[in-house]
Amino acid sequence: VLNYFETKCTASKEITERAKRRIPGGVQHNLAFNYPFPLAIDKAEGAHLTDRDGNVYIDFLQAGGPTILGSNYGPVNERVAEVIKESGPVTGLFHEYELKLAEIINQYMPHIEMYRSLGSGTEAVMAAVRAARAKTGKKMVIKVGGAYHGWSDTVVYGLRVPGSFRMNAKGIPWGATGRTREAFPHDLGTLKRKLIENRLRGGTAAVIVEPFGPESGTRPVPHGYNAAVRKLCDEFGAMLIFDEVVTGFRTGLGGAAGYFGVTPDLTVFGKAVSGGYPMAGGVGGKSEAMSVFGSGLDGKSGAHIQVGGTLSANPLSCAAGYFAIQEMARTNAPVVAGKAGDRLTRGLQKLIDKYGLPYVAYNQGSIVHLECSGVMLLDMRSPIKLLKENKARKTLMEQMGAAYAAHGVITLAGSRMYTSLADTDEVIDDALNRFDQVFAQ
Ligand code: PMP
Repeated sequence: VLNYFETKCTASKEITERAKRRIPGGVQHNLAFNYPFPLAIDKAEGAHLTDRDGNVYIDFLQAGGPTILGSNYGPVNERVAEVIKESGPVTGLFHEYELKLAEIINQYMPHIEMYRSLGSGTEAVMAAVRAARAKTGKKMVIKVGGAYHGWSDTVVYGLRVPGSFRMNAKGIPWGATGRTREAFPHDLGTLKRKLIENRLRGGTAAVIVEPFGPESGTRPVPHGYNAAVRKLCDEFGAMLIFDEVVTGFRTGLGGAAGYFGVTPDLTVFGKAVSGGYPMAGGVGGKSEAMSVFGSGLDGKSGAHIQVGGTLSANPLSCAAGYFAIQEMARTNAPVVAGKAGDRLTRGLQKLIDKYGLPYVAYNQGSIVHLECSGVMLLDMRSPIKLLKENKARKTLMEQMGAAYAAHGVITLAGSRMYTSLADTDEVIDDALNRFDQVFAQ
């Protein structure tokens, strides 16, 4: 693996060495791997990536999930280019594409009666949590251990609370996380206990879950879990927030809410909601729940919470999301990508069995997990043990990610893959051949 990087990736190496002088750590956002060094990508198209040295890879990172249509999708690019030509990327004024995006989301997700565009999934989570607190008058927030909901203070959780999976809470004062609690993944008993305990702490404003389970379903939930969480939220007067940053549109045009038949009060979107274009984020829900987001147009500005941003709801991102969702519907992209995910998962599991490896492959449609580190066995109830095991797991995942790349496949952190409309049977079979070479070693 190291030989591949040293001999075939010299341009990437040179760029990342230079970057270390001007960019802290030499890298800003790399979801693939940084070991032995990150690859510098020049070209993304459909199911493939080309690096600065001209090496071509099968792209199962797909930018971390947003490009369900495949990378750099022409038909959306063309429509977006027309919008830029006419209005430019941003005006700071209202544009009809804001409305068109909200309308098309509502068309496929009827429970999203109203939608507010923001700049990222992180911002959308911040807005949803603030809305829930404003709406309920309660303070506490409950999330699920191991779930990533962006990097805002309330939900990036520290080691001080047993059950936490995220250790990077430096710079976040205790007060900022002091009203957040965690339940263990798919553990309804803990969730109920936290809801009861929170009654003495000002009540629970919101329970936020990824409906397919933490980390895009890395720890999957049983089918009835979301309905049970909904029931508990109703019982305790807490708002249910679905984080559909990854699953929205990817798991079907109706998202996870449609799949599970459970309606949250608020839903957080990101990634696909801008069709792979920048500024992907927003929050939506029933009109009643969304009424706290106002602009002052109705003369009640004092009653509203403040969210927004100079570039939020810009015509470029809104038009890109609108056209991308149109294309997803026209091409049936979530189903096509889901079938590619099934084919990839079946093939991987066959290879795992062929070599008798202690790995497991599983998927939720186009979200494919390839676990080689026993993540399911990590004991979230033991923070110290978890810290140690999580470090070892991270190192292993970086190395696996690099090994797959050296054989021509880019994954998310060596353990997750997103398939897309561009993944034909030929692409999947080509990838499986490459995994076969890695597993053989
Ligand atoms: N929630 C989930 C489930 C995510 O996967 C992510 C990003 N990976 C976020 C929130 C944060 O979104 P963003 O990166 O757009 O801030």
